[in-house]
Amino acid sequence: MRLIFLGAPGAGKGTLAALLAAHDGLVHISTGAILREEIKAGSDLGKEANDYVKTGQLVPESLINSMLEKRLQQGDLTGGYILDGYPRTLEQAHFLDQLLAKLETPLDRVVLVDVPQDLIIKRLSSRLTCPNCGAIYNLLQQPPQKEGICDHCKSGLIVREDDKEEVIRHRLEVYEENTKPLIDYYAKKQLLLKVDNSASPQLALDNLLAQL
Ligand code: ADP
Ligand code: ZN
Repeated sequence: MRLIFLGAPGAGKGTLAALLAAHDGLVHISTGAILREEIKAGSDLGKEANDYVKTGQLVPESLINSMLEKRLQQGDLTGGYILDGYPRTLEQAHFLDQLLAKLETPLDRVVLVDVPQDLIIKRLSSRLTCPNCGAIYNLLQQPPQKEGICDHCKSGLIVREDDKEEVIRHRLEVYEENTKPLIDYYAKKQLLLKVDNSASPQLALDNLLAQL
């Protein structure tokens, strides 16, 4: 199964995508996570992307599209995957359409992870991330077992640079302007499916599995 997860920053796309990937044996491809890895490693791509990611702006299309193209051509995706964080603009959606047509691997579904706006802001401003393994926590609804420590790898948790308040507001604007139009785009292709993620990720997963 090949899926896209759409939704505002803070909607819980990443958490839900990780749960579904583990449940169904899909590969979870998060473009944000790949970029953060590249930045940490200090690669050329990381250096070019750093300022955009830090300030909550979209990384230029050419960079992100070639990164995605490379990723989708790796050999580990025959069992299916979830794209999390891509596409984020109509231009990227068109690029993806062409790429998937060329690879002869059409999309199965696009999942809109839906959460009311006020909850999104609360979640983003209480989010903690593991700088080592990328796990995401939330002091409101999903705190780590031990304060400030990653459940999976025991690293110290941090606030992502782009989860600071100024940047959060900007990311939400970017979402409204660039990414929201994709909801219509995929609805017209009859690929869209909605899942409410305002309670727990486990409930959202059950709801999603019932729809897939
Ligand atoms: P969130 O969904 O919480 O905003 P992500 O981890 O998906 O966080 O993305 C973090 C940042 O990485 C974005 O703000 C942007 O700078 C960059 N990024 C990720 N995916 C894309 C993309 N498809 N196009 C452009 N920039 C991207
Ligand atoms: Zn960790």
